[in-house]
Amino acid sequence: MTATIIDGKAAAAELGDAIAVETLRLREKGIEPGLAVVLVGDNPASEIYVRSKTAKTAALGMHSVLHKMPGETAQTDLLSLIDRLNADPAIHGILVQLPLPPQIDSDTIIAAIAPAKDVDGFHPLTAGRLAAGLPGLKPCTPLACIILAKRIHKKLDGLEAVVIGRSNIVGKPVAQLLLAENATVTITHSKTRDLPAVCRRADILIAAIGKAEFVRADWIKPGATVIDVGINRVLADGGKTRVVGDVAYEEARAVAGAITPVPGGVGPMTIACLMLNTLRAACDIAGLPQPKI
Ligand code: NDP
Repeated sequence: MTATIIDGKAAAAELGDAIAVETLRLREKGIEPGLAVVLVGDNPASEIYVRSKTAKTAALGMHSVLHKMPGETAQTDLLSLIDRLNADPAIHGILVQLPLPPQIDSDTIIAAIAPAKDVDGFHPLTAGRLAAGLPGLKPCTPLACIILAKRIHKKLDGLEAVVIGRSNIVGKPVAQLLLAENATVTITHSKTRDLPAVCRRADILIAAIGKAEFVRADWIKPGATVIDVGINRVLADGGKTRVVGDVAYEEARAVAGAITPVPGGVGPMTIACLMLNTLRAACDIAGLPQPKI
């Protein structure tokens, strides 16, 4: 058996088309969804992410602003910028690219973003609303995982879902979203006993660990859907680097029923979900109903 490849690029393009249509409708009402991306320092990976996010925003007809600040920026200066963006009526979404330099406390910065503009979904209020099952913005990568899993399973009701990783950015929120979809959810982490055996129970396995090709084929139940969140740079032949996921893709393909590739899986869908959140935030702030996407 060879797994169905869940094409994140194609799925993201479909979602992007729907977002572009809704954005045009909003613009006709005089509202141009606006996303502000803030980059502090010159981390090369962050530069690439930020560039693709701002390019995509513009491509879908939204207003996009990039604020680049030097690596030695003081926390107070970043907080002042966030205050200005919170108050700016042209901005509906604020994304501060992580990681931040050591002199800046990420939790303080995230908590300073107006929850209505929290398109990354990391604000404690947004996380609390998600945990309480209240409406609100959903964090982009976890939302991307659910959208991709639903390309295979129309409903997740009763399915066994195992999440590897318990970060606030991926593991915990994706578990909350799976629960909201009525999956039976197990969250695993570095202290989990016999992780391979736990993973073998999964109808849906979500890997968000940050360790290259950590999940092996014999951890996967035959026919399971595997969503690989990992982005790991490893040395390839010729001294170049290449990106691999948290799952040993080639061997996993022979066992899984469906699998997301890395790159080209969760990554592009995460960016599409950021655009979706910006559109949703713009509708909410304007007091308009949510787009039917
Ligand atoms: P974190 O480092 O914050 O969390 C990693 C999690 O993996 C922790 O909960 C940790 O457990 C767990 N873990 C580490 N080692 C093991 C182990 N040996 N066995 C079981 N669990 C283990 O990472 P993130 O959640 O931020 O990111 C995870 C991956 O996803 C990274 O590769 C990151 O680059 C990628 N990513 C991709 C995105 C995308 O758009 N595609 C977006 C965000 C992240 P413990 O808590 O016990 O330490």
